[in-house]
This record gives sequence, C-alpha cells and structure tokens, in this order.
Amino acid sequence: MADVSNTIIYFAPHQDDELLSMGVDICNSLKKGKSVHVVLCTDGSGSSVKRKLNDGKSCNKHPGEHIYDLSEQEFIQARDTEFVASCLALGVKRENIHIPESRGKDGSLELSTAQSIVRQYLKEIDKKAVVCTISLNNGPKQHRDHKTLGRAVENLTNWGEIRKRHLFIEPYHYEQVKDNARLIPIEPEVLTAVSSVKDKINNAIRAYSYWNPQEKRYAIGYHSVTNEFNDYITDTKNRFFVKISPKYMSKADRLYINHRKYLKLKKQKQLYYSMSLCDAPDLGDNVLVSVLGGQVDEYTQFCQQHNVPLTEKNLKRIQDGSSFWCIINSDKEILTRGWLAYKHDFYISETDFGFDMSQCETGLLYHFETEEKYRGQGLYGQLLKSIVSQAIGPKDFVIYTSPDNFASQKGILKAGFKSDGTLKAEDKSLPRYLKSKGFTDIKRKYRLWGLSVER
Ligand SMILES: [Zn+2]
Ligand SMILES: [Zn+2]
Repeated sequence: MADVSNTIIYFAPHQDDELLSMGVDICNSLKKGKSVHVVLCTDGSGSSVKRKLNDGKSCNKHPGEHIYDLSEQEFIQARDTEFVASCLALGVKRENIHIPESRGKDGSLELSTAQSIVRQYLKEIDKKAVVCTISLNNGPKQHRDHKTLGRAVENLTNWGEIRKRHLFIEPYHYEQVKDNARLIPIEPEVLTAVSSVKDKINNAIRAYSYWNPQEKRYAIGYHSVTNEFNDYITDTKNRFFVKISPKYMSKADRLYINHRKYLKLKKQKQLYYSMSLCDAPDLGDNVLVSVLGGQVDEYTQFCQQHNVPLTEKNLKRIQDGSSFWCIINSDKEILTRGWLAYKHDFYISETDFGFDMSQCETGLLYHFETEEKYRGQGLYGQLLKSIVSQAIGPKDFVIYTSPDNFASQKGILKAGFKSDGTLKAEDKSLPRYLKSKGFTDIKRKYRLWGLSVER
C-alpha cells in the first residue's frame, strides 16, 4: 500500500457531515489507534433553519415556540458548538478539531479556498496523512460544497499532494448512487457500526438534537436533516471508496483496482441497435449543424458562438476524429446534440471495450443529450435520422444505450433503428457483435493493461 502515516484527516463540508457520512469511520480509526483530525470547511450559514427558528411556530423536536431571531454570527456559533460537541462525542481530541479562519461561506465554497484549506492542514499536521472527505461523484442532487471539496481533494491527489484518500457517500445519496452503475465503477466499502461505536454515534447525534436556548443550543442539525438523523440511528453505516494516488500506487494496488473494475464492468449489459439508411427528417424551422472530426478550430468557434463550455473531453473527441452533430433553433439554442465516431479508435467505458474502427464502414453514435426543456418532442430521433441520412462515409450505424434508459431506447426505435439485442461482455455476445460490425483489435483496458498506468 502507499506509504502513508498513522494520521487521518477528515474534511467536513458542513457541520453534521462529519457525523452522518463519516462518523462510523472516525470511531473505527480512533479504535485502531490512529491520530484523527476533523476540519470544518464552511460556516454552515446557509441553512434554512435560521429562518425556521424565528417563525413563531412550534415543532415536535422540543418544547416551546420558534422565537429566536439569531444573527448570522450567532447562528454560525450555535452550529459550530454542535459540531465540536459531535466530534468530542465521537472521541476526537479537542485540539484535533479544527475550524479554519479561512473557511468558505455555506453554499459558495470556492475551489481555491477548499484546496488551500486541505493543503494547509496537510502541511501543519502530516503530509503523508490519509485524507477523508465526501466523494464528488454522488449524483446531480449532491450539495455544491460537497462536490467542490471532493474536487479539491481529487485535484490535490492528481498533483501528488495526497497519497491516499477515502471518499465517502452521503447516506441519503447511496441508493441513487448504487442504482447508477456508471457512478460506481468499483464497489464501495461498507462499514457497519459495532455496538460500542453505535453508542458514540448516538451521543454525537444528541449533540445535534440538544435543545436548550439558555445555553444557546437550538438542535440545528436535527431541525435541518431530521429524517437523515433518524435513519442513521437505525442504519448506522458509512460507505466509502478507498483510492490511492497513482503516483504512490504499488503494482499490487494497481492490479487489484483494475481487477475490481474489470469484474464490475464485465457484468454490464447494453442494448445495441443498428440502421443503414433512412430519409432526412423535416426539421421545420430548426437547423442541423455538424462539425467534422479533426476540425478543432471550427469546433472551438462553435462552442464560443453557442455559449457551450469547451471541455477537454469534447476537444479530444474532435481531435480523435469524431464528428459533432446538433439541432439548433432560430435563437441559436442547441436543442439536442451527439457524436459520431468513424474510422478511429474507440473506447466504450460502460463495458470496458476498446477497438479499432479504421477497417470498416460502420459509424458509432454516442453521447447524445437533449436539453431538458426540449425533451419529449422527438428531437433526439430527428437528430439520429439526420445523421444517418447525411453523414458522409459510414454505410452502417450502431448505437447503444443502457437497459434503464427508457427515453433513449424510445428515441432510437422511433428513429427507425432495429434492435440487435441486449449484449454482455460476460457471455461474449458483445465482442462477437463488435467483430460482426467490422471493429477489429477488440481489447479490454482493465484486463490487458493490468500493469500499466491508467490513462
Ligand atoms: Zn453538507
Ligand atoms: Zn423546532
């Protein structure tokens, strides 16, 4: 394993994240004799509980009415008190509980602030410490500050400043993350609290539900995420991924991680469809736009004109030789978009298949997106038909989608594609299919590149 120290630093985006998402792990680390630090990265001022505490109503969490008009400073102070009490209840030493001066404002934590906080504590405490925080990949509903802090840790890892990290999944996002296999390339570790740990967790929960206005304690955590706290009492678990910086990864680590990914991806099913010919659809007042593979300047210009972020990923697609296609309306808004790979190497990350398309006349359609407000109008099908009828080169077109993406399946069939079946890597139906379409040199990255650095 990577050369790491006995120190673990937990970076919490807000007051209560250290407990709800990482509390069991904090207790376990302390039990193992690790030196545990907890750092709070924002002020928690954005909570709607501040208003609630002054709405004059009563609630079932405490006696008396909400008659407390706290200033922002008082509110932050009350939340910090809960945070410190929670960490102490988990067993963290007082001097190891940190609230940096430079912490972010709740809801608008800046990436640079998050990065400098993590850097500062690694430098002050231990450069080789294991870093724990919340993963940035926990779905679209994930709090912005959680993503930002996760991104900061990701960046510092890529720059070789963090050796090993544990990335946690908020308990309230776990079901969704689990359902979306693409978000979990490898299975997370699941920690269930043993009874002595459970007692500590329950005490820490009490720190967030303690009501005593005379002591300036307002049960803010419990008011804010009541259900999450209630669920945590019955289901006291933390889920996280262990990740080691490639720079500090041993060959054994790399093999192990690649093997886990391979086993996971091998089980993925995808639905495949194909079509050779069709008529161009009537787009009405809308217009079809395409940028051919290799036309980097044209693509860059298109992005600027249409207010589309120029991402590295998309730039690479154009450089690789994929063409970009979209339908825009008279206001130059992009309604639906997608990509066509033809005559170049391609890698399907969902099922871990890479291949060479240079020897065939088949095109592969991928990564289609329709703007949310224009969905359900058949635009996706129109774009697919437009590409099939107008793309120069491919004689046959292939498209795939996941079994749970019903909207995509509907659009593909509506465009006139015929189903080629549900294909799996496991039973070899997928490699056979790819071969039948003329794709050659079909390889699996995680299987064959076991000892090479991930790209
Ligand atoms: Zn949070
Ligand atoms: Zn209340």
